Amino acid sequence: MAVLSSGWLATGIAGTALAATGIAAALFIGNSDTGAAYAAGGVVTDRTGTAPDRYVYYPGTEALADGDVRVVACGTGMPDQRRGQASACFLFEFGNGEKFIFDIGTGSMRNLNALMIPSEYLTKVFISHLHTDHWGDLDALWAGGWTAGRPVPLEIWGPSGQTEDMGTAYAVDGFLRAFNWDYQTRAFKITPIPGQITVNEFDYRGENTVVYDDGEIVVRSIPAIHAGDGPVSYIIEYAGLKLVFGGDTSPNKWFVEHTRDADFVIHEAFASPEYFKQDYGQPAQLAWRACCEFHSSGPAFGKVMSEIAPGHAVAYYTMEEAHPQLLLDIRTTYDGPLSIAMDMMTWNITKDGVTERMAVSTDRASAVLGPTRQPPPDPSIPDPTSEFIRAGEWGPGLNAQNDMLDAFSKENDLADVDWRTEKPWYEPN
Ligand SMILES: [Zn+2]
Repeated sequence: MAVLSSGWLATGIAGTALAATGIAAALFIGNSDTGAAYAAGGVVTDRTGTAPDRYVYYPGTEALADGDVRVVACGTGMPDQRRGQASACFLFEFGNGEKFIFDIGTGSMRNLNALMIPSEYLTKVFISHLHTDHWGDLDALWAGGWTAGRPVPLEIWGPSGQTEDMGTAYAVDGFLRAFNWDYQTRAFKITPIPGQITVNEFDYRGENTVVYDDGEIVVRSIPAIHAGDGPVSYIIEYAGLKLVFGGDTSPNKWFVEHTRDADFVIHEAFASPEYFKQDYGQPAQLAWRACCEFHSSGPAFGKVMSEIAPGHAVAYYTMEEAHPQLLLDIRTTYDGPLSIAMDMMTWNITKDGVTERMAVSTDRASAVLGPTRQPPPDPSIPDPTSEFIRAGEWGPGLNAQNDMLDAFSKENDLADVDWRTEKPWYEPN
């Protein structure tokens, strides 16, 4: 598989500057060995010409060709999420229209929403393991997609544990119990179906075992080694492409055996023990185990990549300020194509190669409406509001809205379903 750019080493780092300072073009040229082809997005041929969007992906503006894949890093960080870096989440968009979310770590929903994808298309979630930084924003997807118009349940794939209470089905059951108040109130006020979650739990010990197959996309699972039994990594096959999403893991034999020669491989790479001691304040005895016993450090990541020789490797899970050192650490053991991921980094994967860009979107974007509408409220759902609370409604405040609501009712032909007529305080204009 050819790699379209030889500037990979540069782009992972330059990407940091790309979004923040706009000086990436200069950095990129400085690190490129191919000269004019990389200048400022391409050649601008006259004074009124425009530069090609070499560096930027504008969400919602680019159709995928059948057989191609686009991956967006919606979270690349740790449990201790930061304003500029959410916890782990990678969106895979396939040319046939399917969209899979691999992990939905804390804070990642804000980045997912910035892609302006209708919530009815964001329903399939594959979880690598049950640390919060890999599924902590499931609540935001679940409830946010519900209010944004998702008409159908969510569907989740995730591993079992050594015991029933360590598995994905147990976790999601507990999730729904914890958010029962949220469920009951939205089910009554909006509609109940989007609040349901279907769980597909599979044996975490499966070695390249198929956990999803819709005839076009196949997802396989392999065990990972991370903090306890249960974590897995995923191998995705689509239209002749082989893609890998690795969850948290130390170097393990299953990854090396089954991801060999993949076109695109995402694998964690942890900052050095020195970084965690000096910059993150961890005690030394923790810093050198966290990075290097139950995660993968830069040299360990690089060794795995050298062994499997992917078309393109993606490292994630490190704070951006530690990326320069991580790059040096990785380059002690791997000299192949590489991105060090940051939030909103985007890759297009085709049979001809991989391109890397940054997704650029307004902070105020929400998911956009899709073609399907939610069903109306289900009248069999009991009203979760008692007479005691309803009797506390203060008429003057509620009647103050009448001019606005009368106009809205007229515009939308709502006279037959005027909720105010049932209220004891209602005083029509
Ligand atoms: Zn973890």
